[in-house]
Amino acid sequence: MHLDFSPEDLAFQQEVRTFIAENYPAELRGKQDEGDELSKEDFLSWHKVLAKKGWIAPAWPVEYGGTGWTATQKYIWSEETARADCIRLMPFGLSMVGPVIYTFGTPEQKAKYLPGILSGDVWWCQGYSEPGSGSDLASLRTKAVRDGDHYVVNGQKTWTTMAQHADWGFFLVRTDPDAKQQEGISFLLIDMKSPGITVRPIITLGGEHEVNEVWLEDVRVPVENRIYEENKGWTCAKFLLAHERTGIAGVAASKRGIEKVKTIARTELDGDKPLLANAFFKRKIAELEMDLTALEFTELRSLAGESAGKGPGPESSLLKIKGSEIQQRLTELTLEAVGHYGAPYFRGFGEGDNEHPIGPDYAHRAAPTYFNTRKTTIYGGSNEIQRNIIAKMVLGL
Ligand SMILES: Cc1cc2nc3c(=O)[nH]c(=O)nc-3n(C[C@H](O)[C@H](O)[C@H](O)COP(=O)(O)OP(=O)(O)OC[C@H]3O[C@@H](n4cnc5c(N)ncnc54)[C@H](O)[C@@H]3O)c2cc1C
Repeated sequence: MHLDFSPEDLAFQQEVRTFIAENYPAELRGKQDEGDELSKEDFLSWHKVLAKKGWIAPAWPVEYGGTGWTATQKYIWSEETARADCIRLMPFGLSMVGPVIYTFGTPEQKAKYLPGILSGDVWWCQGYSEPGSGSDLASLRTKAVRDGDHYVVNGQKTWTTMAQHADWGFFLVRTDPDAKQQEGISFLLIDMKSPGITVRPIITLGGEHEVNEVWLEDVRVPVENRIYEENKGWTCAKFLLAHERTGIAGVAASKRGIEKVKTIARTELDGDKPLLANAFFKRKIAELEMDLTALEFTELRSLAGESAGKGPGPESSLLKIKGSEIQQRLTELTLEAVGHYGAPYFRGFGEGDNEHPIGPDYAHRAAPTYFNTRKTTIYGGSNEIQRNIIAKMVLGL
């Protein structure tokens, strides 16, 4: 693993910086920085700029629309987009169902679904979890019964992120109730406008509408929408989760986050000195930075492995655990740094509020972001479950 950038890498870094400076949508500037809630249009405006440039799917093979970048170039890309406070792209199409479709789908399925994921014209959601089937996902009960060339799907999914915007969803359903749990599951692509689908909001601690319940009542899904073989959906499900976990590490964004906390701590006072001069606070920042550096090297090793042809394996659980814990610690430090100014805005300050916010701008979303980030150790498979995976698959216990 070489850590120095070659002249070509440095030229690429410059190209990326210039591209972002010239093309990042003006209306999005500052939004990520201030932690604003983002609309569907916000997510799509950056997505479409990147799709036009051909830079939307760096992780995909070139034949399906990937960029062909080296591991170092991908690393530079994530560093530079974080550095410029670019908003994160929705992962459901690009990082989740897209790789499943180009790996397990038929040529017809690839031709039908991949272009919409790349262009951003089709918004996807993930229908895995159910009430009672989260960590124990294989116990899921949403059932799909064959009726000629259709499945009839009945059940309930929950925590379905951004399903309120979704055009399509990828769902795990039980197609053989008599088989061993993992062997009776299939992976279906379902048009969210199908009759029988109801999406109901769940409002989270920070006041955001991010997650939903999805009810499926006698939803008819063509058999041709099934990816891979009937009852073999667990293979696709596991493959997708490994991809989901690597992306969750968020190293570049956390590096940027530490810079921001430091800026706040230089401005906020502890007595008559900047908070950053407080030995206890400084120590917490230093510990966080050391942990993040260790995580960064682990991610670089994993990227080097990927460029040598090894897909993300169980070690992606490690990236997920450490990355999500660091994200939470960052929001804790931010809330601590803004102190009392964080208190009036447990649910954020935004459109419709008819008073002047008190305190500096960076304080307004500190509390909602803190609450929202509690999710990171739960979603993508809880951190306790990731520890079980590491114990079994990495340590062989
Ligand atoms: C914000 C958010 C967004 C999400 N988005 C989606 C989405 O888009 N699509 C989707 O399908 N799902 C989504 N999820 C669901 C997520 O994957 C589940 O919440 C997660 O897998 C945990 O399942 P659970 O909530 O049912 O908790 P449970 O499985 O009931 O777990 C409860 C607690 O027990 C612990 N626990 C359970 N089993 C074990 C064990 N064997 N050993 C040790 N500890 C254990 C868990 O770690 C957890 O702390 C989202 C969740 C959140 C919070």
